[in-house]
Amino acid sequence: MRRGSRPWATPARKPWGARWWNWASTPPPTRAALLEAATAEGQLVGYELELTTRGGDKRTVLQSMSPIEVNGEACWLFGLHDITERKQTEQRVREREELLSLTIEAAALGLWDWNLHSGEVTGDARWRVMYGLAPVEPGASAAVHWASGITPEDIDVVTQELRRHLQEPHKPFDVTCEVLAPQGGGRWIRSVGKVVAYDTAGQPARMVGMSIDVSSQRQQERQLERMAHYDALTGLPNRVMLERRLRAGMEHSRARGQQLGVAYLDLDGFKPVNDRLGHAAGDRLLVVVAERLKRALRLSDSVARLGGDEFVILLSGLAHAEECERRLHTVMESVAAPYTLDGERVLVTASIGYTLYPDDEADADTLLRHADQAMYAAKQAGRNRFHGFDAAEERARQLRREQCGELLRALQRGELTLFLQPKVDMRLGTVVGAEALARWQHPERGLLSPVHFLHLIEGHTELQMRFGEWVVDTALQQIARLMAQGLELPVSINITPEHLHRRGFADWMALRLAQHPAVPARLLAIELTESAALYDIDHVARELTRLRALGMQISFDDFGTGYSSLAYLRRLPMDHLKLDRSFVAGMLGDAGDRAIVQGVIGLAHSFGCGIVAEGVETVEQGLALLQMGCHHAQGYCIAMPMPVEQFMDWAKAWQAPAPWRATSQAAAPVPPAAAIAA
Ligand code: C2E
Ligand code: CA
Ligand code: CA
Repeated sequence: MRRGSRPWATPARKPWGARWWNWASTPPPTRAALLEAATAEGQLVGYELELTTRGGDKRTVLQSMSPIEVNGEACWLFGLHDITERKQTEQRVREREELLSLTIEAAALGLWDWNLHSGEVTGDARWRVMYGLAPVEPGASAAVHWASGITPEDIDVVTQELRRHLQEPHKPFDVTCEVLAPQGGGRWIRSVGKVVAYDTAGQPARMVGMSIDVSSQRQQERQLERMAHYDALTGLPNRVMLERRLRAGMEHSRARGQQLGVAYLDLDGFKPVNDRLGHAAGDRLLVVVAERLKRALRLSDSVARLGGDEFVILLSGLAHAEECERRLHTVMESVAAPYTLDGERVLVTASIGYTLYPDDEADADTLLRHADQAMYAAKQAGRNRFHGFDAAEERARQLRREQCGELLRALQRGELTLFLQPKVDMRLGTVVGAEALARWQHPERGLLSPVHFLHLIEGHTELQMRFGEWVVDTALQQIARLMAQGLELPVSINITPEHLHRRGFADWMALRLAQHPAVPARLLAIELTESAALYDIDHVARELTRLRALGMQISFDDFGTGYSSLAYLRRLPMDHLKLDRSFVAGMLGDAGDRAIVQGVIGLAHSFGCGIVAEGVETVEQGLALLQMGCHHAQGYCIAMPMPVEQFMDWAKAWQAPAPWRATSQAAAPVPPAAAIAA
């Protein structure tokens, strides 16, 4: 009798024969009973046993016996198979399944199975409840079409999400749809699933997943959203919502080529109401104001409350500022009408600042800031009025800020330089000094003269100080370079009035000089204008006296253009007057200018100081000046301002024009007293 061939070698196909016992469920059969069973059936039988090893370990084993033939003799083969791991795994799987079913139960999840070919979905009882479907009648089909009961928009959403999931199968299908309940009022159902089967053509065939009702979560989200975007007291949009609307409004007006009015409104007289009638009354007033504002505006406009008694109004579709002001006028009137609070008549008004976008081409935050700035101006101007923000003025201010920054950087990068323009004695043909004039070697715009940048330092303290320091240091370095070439010439620098009026100006100058000990102070001169000297003359006189004591020289620039009283000027120490170039330019053709030139020369002589004529452009002008007793001059006909290296060569080679030299052989110049009398 053939007993079969080693059936345990292929357990998958024939797992443990026809019979086996689980010791846990039934008491293990006796060996005799087993033998009997095996003999009767002629095949493998087995049973599970729990054994304790010598080490005290509990193991589950499967004892089996099978009839075999050895050398034609029927025998029994006994086997002992350790199945502890398998049993443990089975136990874990059972526990997991229990846990999963508990989770599904506790989370109120509905399970579903979607046939992607037919589009039909079947779900469990909970899933049917979520979708508002009646329980399945016995014998009826449980399947429904996936798109039934959801809105057309959600149908698109589901289709897109399915497509997405098929492209990225590792990320589950996850969609939340509004399910329309038959008795009205929707429910939000979130469904998460995964494709689990494909057909032979590789097309997705089946998806399984679960659904959960997230309606209450949705409601909370909406509530939070309301709280996040609306003001609790007045129900008006809050700052967050305002910013959103503002950005949308900006886009809209740009697209339409219209202006958007952004107005900042602050109530006048709100605080006294609050203080006198209490916060509750103040709150009621704000609610009424909010109502009135809404009514005074059109549907396309909007109003938001920023907090306190501050509101922002957006006026759309404006053609120009007048239209904006007309509409703001209506708003102001509606706010200004009397209120009754606790039986009392209360009056408040509005101060409004506005700006127009895109005339004011700023970002949303800046527009609000501009409107706020303008509101402040309306308050300053007496309240109960509106004030428009001046975008052009702001642009100019902004440009100036940028340019100041650029100049500061230019100073740090060494883009500025001092050119020297010689001062000469026309009669003797000698170079007597130089004036240092600032230039900016701009990387893009080329060489710039001071008119292009000097205005930037006015009123800009930091720039002023940095620039002043740079001028003095650079001039002192240049003097040192000239000295090294054997040219010991005084160099004058120009000082701004603001700088001169700064406290401790002379001390500061002394400090700068101390940084350059090789340069004697007598070689550094300062030029300041009459008007600079006049303001706070006591301070100026003190500072100039200190500078003089240091050894420096002082020149009065553009002399004759100011309105200084001689009595005042007399109090100031001075070494030279610089005759303004406008008189030099006019003196040959204009008797008045000539008289002024003559007068200033006389004044210099009688004050006992030197005189330098500025802006000498022709030999004739020089000659006339010489004849009037002014020997020192500066101007294009002598030399243009130039870099210091060039100046050194120029100074060594310069020769005065022949007509000027000729005057040195002629009679002595007119004495000062006679000059004044003339
Ligand atoms: P300023 O002190 O009156 O300087 C004389 C100006 O006249 C210079 O102009 C010079 O180039 C110009 N000039 C010289 N000769 C002639 C001439 O024959 N004809 C004409 N039409 N003009 C002549 P620049 O260099 O453009 O400087 C303009 C002003 O800028 C200066 O007037 C001075 O007030 C100011 N400045 C220049 N450098 C500095 C500086 O380092 N610091 C300060 N605070 N101001 C400076
Ligand atoms: Ca000057
Ligand atoms: Ca001048």
